[in-house]
Order: sequence, then structure tokens, then C-alpha cells
Amino acid sequence: MKTETIAIHAGNHTDETTGAVVQPITMSTTFERMEDSSFREGLIYSRAANPNRTSLEKVLTQLEGGVDAAAFSSGNAAGMSVFQSLQPGTHIIAPDDMYHGLRNQLKQLFAGILEFDFIDIDNTEVLKAHIKANTGLIWIETPSNPLLKVTDIRKIVALVKQHNIKVVCDNTFATPVCQQPLSLGADLVMHSTTKYFGGHSDLMGGALITVKNDDWWQKIRNVQTMGGAIPSPMDCYYLARSIKTLPYRVRGHCHNAQLLAGFLDIHASVEQVLYPGLSSHPNHNVAKQQMTGFGGVLSFCLKGGEQEAKRVINKLKLFTKATSLGGVESLIEHRATVEGPDTKTPFNLLRISVGLEHIDDLIADLEQALL
Ligand SMILES: *Cc1c(COP(=O)(O)O)cnc(C)c1O
Repeated sequence: MKTETIAIHAGNHTDETTGAVVQPITMSTTFERMEDSSFREGLIYSRAANPNRTSLEKVLTQLEGGVDAAAFSSGNAAGMSVFQSLQPGTHIIAPDDMYHGLRNQLKQLFAGILEFDFIDIDNTEVLKAHIKANTGLIWIETPSNPLLKVTDIRKIVALVKQHNIKVVCDNTFATPVCQQPLSLGADLVMHSTTKYFGGHSDLMGGALITVKNDDWWQKIRNVQTMGGAIPSPMDCYYLARSIKTLPYRVRGHCHNAQLLAGFLDIHASVEQVLYPGLSSHPNHNVAKQQMTGFGGVLSFCLKGGEQEAKRVINKLKLFTKATSLGGVESLIEHRATVEGPDTKTPFNLLRISVGLEHIDDLIADLEQALL
């Protein structure tokens, strides 16, 4: 089945007692035992499994072309479960512009437990030089946040497979509508479902999707159900509801982002636009090979520096000055401010999460704000 069909039908089932077409929300934390002590559907207690979470995990699995998925209460909880599933002393290689929340998680919560190097993973020589005997995991994030760097997933997989190193891909920016890392050789996909899956800036969630149901995956499942960072039945319901329109929303985001990138690219006040859909992007060819759309996030640098970036942001009327991405409304932020003092993000950079407003209105707003 194609993505649009999976998004609508996978996991959802018509209620047998009432005939309700939309699966009801099962709020119950606990499930009744039968006379022989067994359970009707194998459901015991909602931290272990809940019908709405199971349905959500089914649709996530099929969208990424995996064999199983685990839903979490946030993207960071999903990422943390991966790190917690590793043997202490395991060495992780991660990109130097890894999502700052996860980079800080490793640095602050896993120091002394795991080893990690943040490097330019797109540089083959640098990557090879960092592979050690205890390297167990390579973390990929593509396109990356906020520099929209594109990593060649196939190339990394080919390079590390012989070393028995697992490859995890944070696919939040691309979504399975634009990119399916498991089909490119990755072992695990991670999502912040807070972003495009939720799509309306009103719920937090995370997910992991696996290509194999092996011992490692069972460990991750244990971290999920014993650690307990699970989404509520209500959040699972809302997320499954939003996913039904994911393919159409993502196509709209990509369409608007491409046109906005084109507008900014030729604007006199703009120094550089970072968007994988532009032919000027250093890895545009890799993006074309592994993506079917280039996503809804772009960054651009202003010729007038930090001061000019902050002036532009305050002059915009339609774009909301806020962090996060993937919602129907357009958001803009001065990324270096968000990331704090140790940021490597240029101070003249603005990141836009391009929403689903009409592109003419978005361009008109930027036009009046830019000099
Ligand atoms: C937001 C985000 C995360 C973290 O997800 P939360 O839901 O905020 O915990 C991880 N990776 C990327 C690329 C993100 O954009």
C-alpha cells in the first residue's frame, strides 16, 4: 500500500460493539481478568500496552516500512531509550550539529556511562578515523537542524556495516513521506512526533521504528515499558488522527518551502539560503537520490548580521516568533539564541518552519520585512 492509504487505514479498527468507525479512546489503566485468569486481548496494564498506543505503533511501523515501532512521550524520550539500551562503555558517533536537545542529553546525562564523539560524519576520512573497537552506534540526522545538512545514508551504512555498528536515523525533518531510512539500510528510525506527525503544535511525542525484531529491539521495548516514558491514550489518539493527513500536509509544507527558498535565494539582503531542494545546496544530488521531497524547514543567513536578523524577525506579521517546527502555522526563530552559549549556529541565521498558509501571503510578509 502507498503512504496515503497506510496513513489512513493502518492500525485503526472499527469498534465491534458499537460499530464506531473511528477507534474509541481507551482511557482505562487496567484490564479485567477472565475466570481462568487470562486476559481478553492480552492487555494487562496501560504502561505495558494500550489499544490506542498499539494502533499508533502499527501505523508508524508501516509508514517507515519497519517491523515494529515504540511510541514515547517525547522525541527526547525516544532518543534516550536508544542510549539507555546500549551496554555501558559503548562508543557513539554523532554529527557535530546533532539536535541540541539530544546532544545535551548525551553530554549531561550520559557522561561517564557512554562514550561519544560529535564529528563531521559526512567527511568519510574523519568518520573512519573515529571508529573504535567499542563503537556501537552511529547517529544520523538528515536533513539536520538548523543547518539543513544532508547526510548520505547509504554511504554511511556501507562504511560501517562491516564493523557491526548500528545506524540510527533521526528522520524528524524529512518524515517518511520524503525519506525512508530503513529502506536505505538504517537499523532504526527516530522521530519527534511533536513535529510533522502531530502537525498542529499541540502535542508532544516520539517514536522509534525498527527494521528487525531482535534482542536489541526487545531491550528498547523494555526501556519503553519499564522506564515508562509512554504517551497517554489521548495523545496516541490525537497523533493517529493527525497522521491521516500527514502525506498531504507534508507535500504542502515542501511546496511552500521550495517556493520560499527560491524567493529568498535571489533576495538582495540574503547572504545564503540553506535548503536541500535548492540546486546550490552542497548535497542537493544526495538529497535527490534519497528523498522524494525536501521538507518544510529552511534556514537563511542575512547580509546585515545578527542585528539585521533580529530586526527582520520582529517586523514579520504572519510568521510567529517561536521555536519548534512541523505545525500548520509558519514559525521563525533566531536559532543561535535558542541553542545557548555553546552554539555553532551562525548569528545571522534565521530558521523557518514553513507552514500551510498561502505561499503568496508568506512571501508578501517576508518582502515587507526584508530591506
Ligand atoms: C524536536 C526534535 C527532537 C526532540 O523531540 P521532542 O519531541 O522535542 O522531545 C529531536 N530531533 C529533532 C530533529 C527535533 O527537531
